[in-house]
Amino acid sequence: MGPRNPDLHAHSTCSDGLLSPAEVVERAARNGVDLLALTDHDEIKGLAEAAAASQAAGIGFVPGVEVSVTWQGETLHIVGLGVDAGSDALKAGLAKVRSGRDARAQKMSDALADIGIHGVLDGALKYVGNPALVSRSHFARYLVEIGIAPHTDAVFKHYLAKGKPGYIETQWAHLAEAIEWIRASGGLPVVAHPGRYKISDAQYDTLFSSFRDLGGVGVEVVSGSQSPSKTGKFARYARRYGLLASRASDFHGDAGKRVDLGGCEPLPDGLTPIWSRLTDYY
Ligand code: AMP
Ligand code: MN
Ligand code: MN
Ligand code: MN
Repeated sequence: MGPRNPDLHAHSTCSDGLLSPAEVVERAARNGVDLLALTDHDEIKGLAEAAAASQAAGIGFVPGVEVSVTWQGETLHIVGLGVDAGSDALKAGLAKVRSGRDARAQKMSDALADIGIHGVLDGALKYVGNPALVSRSHFARYLVEIGIAPHTDAVFKHYLAKGKPGYIETQWAHLAEAIEWIRASGGLPVVAHPGRYKISDAQYDTLFSSFRDLGGVGVEVVSGSQSPSKTGKFARYARRYGLLASRASDFHGDAGKRVDLGGCEPLPDGLTPIWSRLTDYY
């Protein structure tokens, strides 16, 4: 029998989550998750700790990652499930993606200083758990701390989203590279939270067909970081392009604010779950 409560997307302090890898696992186990993937942004250093904690907690663990991609000028996220953290191709690829983050963080801080908000990089660094992975989320937490906005959503909306004063254009991985690194390490590439992208329906068709042609396998039909009203749309894309369906909270530790670990809706009927290809892990 397959897992009853799979959750195949979550973050730890190795990227922009608030809990350590072991704490993510313990919370998942308490919530009844029986198959968990840790998928930190552009980073796999939390996987060993999470795997050990999962073994201790008696739940299935899928080693994962979430790769930042630039596609047609839009930032997309591609999750890799079942990756081998020892893969040289994956490690080198992720190191390359991470390398842009420090310069970007300095530019973000400079751009915010230009509108009168000073010292934001130093402030954001207090929230960073992994010096190789400075994220907009860390900036957002500091900007809330100093009262720039009441919560991080408002900070993104007014300061950090594309077109806003603190936004710095960044070239992440190419879609083909991200898929190649994930596959080279034995993983399954999955389009993360497709409902979040600001692209047209014609672009979605292009995205899913090229993703599949490049070796992509799955799509997060159910995601805690997209509205449940999008589930039907992406279930249709999954069927149309023969993609396997994932279920994913995208938990960052901000319990109460978003969907908790294991808290997503079940997959709609008529889809092939991606965990049918992850039987090694449960
Ligand atoms: P980065 O990879 O540094 O650009 O940061 C992206 C992260 O910021 C995402 O993974 C989310 O965790 C967070 N994020 C993006 N947009 C929003 C938003 N509108 N509200 C809150 N968090 C967001
Ligand atoms: Mn994040
Ligand atoms: Mn994401
Ligand atoms: Mn994520």
